[in-house]
Amino acid sequence: MRARMEADTGIQAFDIYGLSEIIGPGVASECTEHDGLHVFEDHFLPEIIDPESGEPLPDGEEGELVLTTLSKKAMPMIRYRTRDITAILREPCGCGRTIRRIRRIGRRSDDMFIIRGVNVYPSQVEAALLNVEGTLPHYQIILSREQGLDQMSVEVEVTPEVFSDKVRALEEVRTRLAQAIEHILGIRVGLRLVGPHAIPRSEGKAKRVIDKRNES
Ligand SMILES: [Zn+2]
Repeated sequence: MRARMEADTGIQAFDIYGLSEIIGPGVASECTEHDGLHVFEDHFLPEIIDPESGEPLPDGEEGELVLTTLSKKAMPMIRYRTRDITAILREPCGCGRTIRRIRRIGRRSDDMFIIRGVNVYPSQVEAALLNVEGTLPHYQIILSREQGLDQMSVEVEVTPEVFSDKVRALEEVRTRLAQAIEHILGIRVGLRLVGPHAIPRSEGKAKRVIDKRNES
């Protein structure tokens, strides 16, 4: 999505990280090196923990980001669990700043779901989308249960060109996307291709997974 936005607008994108419980955007930000996000350590103390055991992990290891506010007055937070999975980078940054960086956040510990015994993160579906031309980075995963068996289907928006073209273009995208997803996840999923803006947009964090498995 970022690459497409940069290509379409000619504007350089900077990832900025935050969460409303802490301050909103402004906990960490990329510099012009675009190699991780500097945490503003004079205001926030970052730690990485094992999301299962809660044990702190050393810099460089991947785990859940935990934040403590150091200067916030009315509503301080102590070791607040963000559910965001990242790692702290200790190596000096090319820009010269000495505050530590976190790796760009690609997934959350509560994003993961299990389908037919396979651990799946929505970011894996996103990775497949990026490899298939004609798709847009807007998608939704729907989990259901049919006759006791878990089913996963993905709704994906395609470009106006593909959507308005003949059936053949749609079928081509569908085939390539099904292969790309199966290659990454190792399971077959149902696919529904929809036109631009067919998937509802959410304010803030997108709702990528709709789990209907316990409804019936
Ligand atoms: Zn830097």
